[in-house]
Amino acid sequence: MVVEEDLEEERKQIIRRYRRMLRKAKPILKEGDAKLIKKAFNTSMEAHSGMRRKSGEPYIFHPLEVAEICITEIGLGTTSIISALLHDVVEDTDYEIDDIERLFGSKVATIIDGLTKISGVFEYGSSQQAENFRKMLLTLSDDVRVILIKLADRLHNMRTLESMPRNKQLKIANETIYLYAPLAHRLGLYVFKSEMEDLYLKYSELEIYNEITQKINATKDARGKFIRSFIKPIKDNLAKLKVEYEIKGRPKSVYSIWNKMKKQAVPFEEVYDLFAVRIILDVPYELEKSLCWQVYSFVTDYYQPNPDRLRDWISIPKANGYESLHTTVMSDKGQWVEVQIRTKRMDEIAEKGYAAHWKYKGGSNSSVETGLEMWIGNVREILEQNDGSAIEFIDDFRSNLYSDEVFVFTPKGDLITLPAEATALDFAFDIHTEVGSHCLGAKVNQKLVPLNFKLKNGDQVEILTSKKQRPNESWLQYVVSSKAKSKIKDALKEERKNIIDDGKEVVKRKLKQLKMEYHQDNLQRIADFFDTKSVPDLLYLIGTGKIDHSLIKSFKKEEKKKQNITEEVDQINQLEEKLKKSKTKDNDLLLLGDDLNIVDYKFSKCCNPIPGDDVFGFITVSDGVKIHRTTCPNAAELLSKYGYRIIKAKWASSRKHSFEAALSIIGTDRIGLISDVSNVISSELKVNMRSLSINTEGGIFEGNIQLYVEDTNHIGTLIKKLEKVQGVVKVSRLD
Ligand code: MN
Repeated sequence: MVVEEDLEEERKQIIRRYRRMLRKAKPILKEGDAKLIKKAFNTSMEAHSGMRRKSGEPYIFHPLEVAEICITEIGLGTTSIISALLHDVVEDTDYEIDDIERLFGSKVATIIDGLTKISGVFEYGSSQQAENFRKMLLTLSDDVRVILIKLADRLHNMRTLESMPRNKQLKIANETIYLYAPLAHRLGLYVFKSEMEDLYLKYSELEIYNEITQKINATKDARGKFIRSFIKPIKDNLAKLKVEYEIKGRPKSVYSIWNKMKKQAVPFEEVYDLFAVRIILDVPYELEKSLCWQVYSFVTDYYQPNPDRLRDWISIPKANGYESLHTTVMSDKGQWVEVQIRTKRMDEIAEKGYAAHWKYKGGSNSSVETGLEMWIGNVREILEQNDGSAIEFIDDFRSNLYSDEVFVFTPKGDLITLPAEATALDFAFDIHTEVGSHCLGAKVNQKLVPLNFKLKNGDQVEILTSKKQRPNESWLQYVVSSKAKSKIKDALKEERKNIIDDGKEVVKRKLKQLKMEYHQDNLQRIADFFDTKSVPDLLYLIGTGKIDHSLIKSFKKEEKKKQNITEEVDQINQLEEKLKKSKTKDNDLLLLGDDLNIVDYKFSKCCNPIPGDDVFGFITVSDGVKIHRTTCPNAAELLSKYGYRIIKAKWASSRKHSFEAALSIIGTDRIGLISDVSNVISSELKVNMRSLSINTEGGIFEGNIQLYVEDTNHIGTLIKKLEKVQGVVKVSRLD
């Protein structure tokens, strides 16, 4: 029968693939390993028997391929091979984690558990994918192999995306570009990352992908010729070094070429660095650096380098362990060419990432390990603190994945690596949470700088702390590292919690006094009464004193109060009518700022009117006419009780007079803030200050400024300028 023949052929095919995988693993196998791998293979075969992939192939092809990727492309060992073979068993078959533990031990079971998707219900605002990703990363604290196998799994799924329905293709391709490719990049798996990105492009923009691939192939011969002539003069010099070397010239990935086309808005033909020439030296570890620079010198003897494009990742490797020396030079054909100079060891780390890095860990280079291990340590820390939603977590995590780095130093000269754009505050939190939480400012290269000062490569940073300092909301805008962000969030949450507890006590006491019960229903009504978003918000505002607790008694008279409010509104409406009427009587118009005016007037102290304000005059019993703003807190009373004593008033001209006004200014305290504020006032706007009082507490800065201004425009400009001063949160005019 045909079908049986097919099955027989399929069985042979499975065995062939299994043997191929085993052959590749051979060099790394120790005694007894092959037996374990066979057991895992048989278990997986049996568990997945009868299952097929969307392509129609037997399911077992997939775990076999994933295992092979782990061996050949990452360089992983037996435990990983076993885990790769079994990675879908718990998720897709009747096997449980306990079965795996019984059969293969706890190490493999932990890895498989990390690779098994979570099932069940999710909180609102979360997503299954986010939760799964988070779960996978949580296992990172136990074993980084979980992530490496997951990446191999994802890569194989991307390679076999063809047979998936279109919507699945898009979903998987997008997840890959959003999370897995950056993750591969961060772990130093450049080959993985490039292939994932290219496959993403293939499934998201097939036409562009085909066009670029075609053009890369079409220019292959010309490129080969170009590279041969480019390296010819260098080769002669390399021969003198008497070391083994290899030169590769490969085009950049389709995806990166496409990105360049988009970024520079140019067609394929005009992307100038389509490929890179890579010179790989096979030299002993202690000669690596000097020989790489020697080769750099050969290259630049012949070709003019672009000084902006020299990258020395040998002296300071990237955080993912990448080491290489890059330069971009002008060829004699007038074309820019990127030249990457590295050793075999560096090349293997660049291609295979984390695993290769472990292989060389025995070597004496300690700086290679620090970057990547610090990162893993950092991820671990984020994971341990994070109790927010999975989506928030992924955002934080991604920001860590993509970032480039800035290298700075402690006063003792220790190197600290931070994400690009990091500030003094990031630095402080990197040193220690306590240092971060009490950070007042910093000295960068001996100069005082504020918390949000952006650090540059090579800066030497000393943190200044104060016991009184505490994190506040605006700090979140000052930092970029997820470590600092989560520590600040923690501190703010903690503080809010404490304040809510205080608020709770206050409300309890108050309600007792008012002989009312403390229960959810009453609390909700009080929250509505004060127009707060929720009960915790209400308790928080009461805790901070922003809502005066004594006002709770007015809640008791809510109904009556409501009535009163309607009455008040009526009254005010009547007053406005009156005021309008009085304004229409042109005969007693008082022109302000006009020296010819016969009527003597003064500006009231209660609202300090300045030209441009809506105003009215009020005839006082003993002090002549007083000018008030229509928004003056006393206006309502004056207008309603003494309507007959009101005179319409208006500003006559834009003649320059100085008027007194007062501003309130609130911000977060930092060194130099006061001088910045007074600078804006006195030098930039030439405003005369009468007095300035500043009060700082707990990092918050509150100031009262009395000053002389010309009119409302003037004060408006001033407020805008002041609000732009770093650290200033709010500026408002005081009545
Ligand atoms: Mn899988």
